[in-house]
Amino acid sequence: RVILHQALRNAIAQNELELYYQPKISAQDGHIHGFEALLRWNHPQNGLTGPGVFIPLAERFGLIGTIGAWVIEQACAQLGQWKREGVDCRVAINLSPHQLRNPRLPQLIEAALRKNHIEPSRLVCEITETALMENVDSESEVMKQIAALGVRLSIDDFGTGYSSLAHLRRVPAKQLKIDRSFVADLEEVSEGRAVVNAIVQLAHALSIEVVAEGVETHEQLRTLRELGCDVLQGYAIARPMPAGAVARWLAAEKLTRDERLQPGTAFAPV
Ligand code: C2E
Ligand code: CA
Ligand code: CA
Repeated sequence: RVILHQALRNAIAQNELELYYQPKISAQDGHIHGFEALLRWNHPQNGLTGPGVFIPLAERFGLIGTIGAWVIEQACAQLGQWKREGVDCRVAINLSPHQLRNPRLPQLIEAALRKNHIEPSRLVCEITETALMENVDSESEVMKQIAALGVRLSIDDFGTGYSSLAHLRRVPAKQLKIDRSFVADLEEVSEGRAVVNAIVQLAHALSIEVVAEGVETHEQLRTLRELGCDVLQGYAIARPMPAGAVARWLAAEKLTRDERLQPGTAFAPV
């Protein structure tokens, strides 16, 4: 524990953290909707470690505030760089429940946006449904302030947290992400389709945009489009990639999309 704590504490200073970016595409026309920034830790001995392992540790060690602030700063700097290169997109970051307890979080976000000359609507903050359920008044105040900046809030892992309809209406979210377990169930469980359909209808009734995550097969992709999902994300479209690979992917993707949009061509991911 001590060694890990020290290593994680040093990770920022040693430049070992990196954001990978996974595309989200519009379900209707395949246009790029944006990217989700996903944190990676390149440890000199242990290699590339996923956030599923070290984020819970960072939370336990009290390091998530520092790491989270780095993510905000880094994502905004990347948006700034892409803007200068003519890449016009949104970036979503993940916020942990601990970060929402920091009353200075809205200022932190605002400062990073301003420093990099980014329009607030370019940034999306993903917050898990479970974190929303735990939230107390002060956290919901923080969320309101973030939303008031013009930053979009997205409810992550939706469907795993048993939130009530009343609760959902009180959250100033513009988007929800159907948890990937429901996407996987589309092919495995007979009621899978009905569940996703119900979530899409509920979200649309509340004017909330629906993202399906963890889309791995063309069959899932087709079904999700049929059910009216707005945005798709998953290995069937692209895996998370380093920032440096994004321009190349966009160029290749554009070619495929232009082909794909020809009359008579069926929609297919790259
Ligand atoms: P998440 O926010 O639900 O992110 C989606 C996860 O699903 C990512 O795992 C992504 O690589 C993976 N994924 C994407 N498409 C597919 C697919 O088609 N199939 C499957 N099986 N998986 C897919 P990753 O990158 O390991 O991240 C795990 C979790 O760690 C994230 O879940 C998020 O909760 C957390 N996380 C990642 N980056 C950050 C961060 O900067 N801050 C905080 N607080 N949490 C983060
Ligand atoms: Ca997420
Ligand atoms: Ca998720």
